[in-house]
Amino acid sequence: MNKRKKFCVLGQDVTVEYSENPLVDETNRQLAGFFDIKKNHIVIHDETDKDTMKTLIHELVHALIYRSGVAQIITVEAQEILCESLSHFIYENFDMRRQKRK
Ligand SMILES: [Zn+2]
Repeated sequence: MNKRKKFCVLGQDVTVEYSENPLVDETNRQLAGFFDIKKNHIVIHDETDKDTMKTLIHELVHALIYRSGVAQIITVEAQEILCESLSHFIYENFDMRRQKRK
């Protein structure tokens, strides 16, 4: 998988870090990844290519809905549903495996 480390989200750079170590939140709950709003930075737990890609898309959608302002008008639960739905939709309909760095 092409492990791209920078994306442009509506004109703003979002950096990505891939961690081999498991990620946990402040309550010790395991995370596949997270988006740090203050740093415009995503951290992904590097798992299988499929899981890593789906998590990356999920976190990029978080960045997108935050940047667009949508995050301010929908609940946290709705944000999670949107991120997860779009992640599945994009992964299932676009072949991400073909994208390799030249
Ligand atoms: Zn999420």
